[in-house]
Amino acid sequence: MPEFDILCHGDLWDPVHGRRNDRWLAIQGGRIISESEEHPGEARDTVTATLFTPGLIDMHVHLVWDGTDDPVATLTDETESETTIRAIENARKQLEGGVTTVRDLGSTDDIAIAVGRAIRTGRVPGPRTIASGRTIIISDGHDPFWGIESDGIDACRRAVRKLRGAGADVIKVSATGGVYGQAIGEDPGAAELSRAELTAIVEEANRFDLPVATHAVGTDGIRNAVVAGVDTIEHGNLMDDETLAQLEDEDIAYDPTLFVYQEIASGSAPEYARTNALRVVDQHTEVVKKASRENVRLLAGSDAGSPNTPHPSLHRELQSLVENGLSEEAALTAATHTAAEELGRSSLGTLDPETPADVIGFDDDPFVDIEGTSSPSIIVKDGALY
Ligand SMILES: [Zn+2]
Repeated sequence: MPEFDILCHGDLWDPVHGRRNDRWLAIQGGRIISESEEHPGEARDTVTATLFTPGLIDMHVHLVWDGTDDPVATLTDETESETTIRAIENARKQLEGGVTTVRDLGSTDDIAIAVGRAIRTGRVPGPRTIASGRTIIISDGHDPFWGIESDGIDACRRAVRKLRGAGADVIKVSATGGVYGQAIGEDPGAAELSRAELTAIVEEANRFDLPVATHAVGTDGIRNAVVAGVDTIEHGNLMDDETLAQLEDEDIAYDPTLFVYQEIASGSAPEYARTNALRVVDQHTEVVKKASRENVRLLAGSDAGSPNTPHPSLHRELQSLVENGLSEEAALTAATHTAAEELGRSSLGTLDPETPADVIGFDDDPFVDIEGTSSPSIIVKDGALY
């Protein structure tokens, strides 16, 4: 009987300690056992790569969406069972792309919660899935297909309670309109849930230890969410300098999802969405550049499933972040250590012994070219080699 399940040999990068060394990593029983300079013993599988990192974490995906030009049209044309099957397929694709944890921020019928549970219990392969299920929105607000329409403080509190009962790991709210979702009656710049409603949601969620992730494109809605004390700002396209500085003071993390907006602005998404994206994409890029120079905690979310953004697309988001001011190391830190801490699972963002064995190997060194993250050669999740 070999002593270990898996031995990984190559450069190990640990974002927590910021060091990179040629080492052996020993894995047994789903956990990292040791890191050593010397060959530690026999293993069932021995794998090598140029660089090993902790498993990648995509902080914003939609497993039910197919990443074509118009994923809402696909949803409309199919049954819940068909959508569920695709969500399972998309989860597998994420894992095959080296993404070992995703945060799913919006699914019809709470499908992502069910898929996450099936993955956790080993019935289907996929990344660890932290899911919001449905989202909280105003009447006819952003993303109506998976929103719980909640007008007024009581309705907002009720929605949090319902989502908690449905097994949500995180509460997702729409603080503004969006660029994609419905062609009529939606303005990405307009605030939707009010400051009082957002505050009630945060209070209620915090009572149950649930974090709040906020879709926020327009300036006023971003400010409302920050004042309400949410945990993460998603998109933040039209954030002003004052609010950006406040993120740092209030320790709110920023998940820009830059790639998807560039893609909708330039790609073949529906015309209304392209027009909306063109209105926000330049300022969005400036906000990300500023955030990269300040002490804002940055996350990496691809919004995979959205128009022209298939599963997985985290590597494309990392590329956009590097093109707009982040170093390769900062981008990889956003997708590992910072994300793990934000999820309250810091052991997922390190290669330290006694942590869960989520380890990704790359032959094309992502520190030389971040594009290397698109083709992982070794994928280990929970100590299993895929
Ligand atoms: Zn989204």
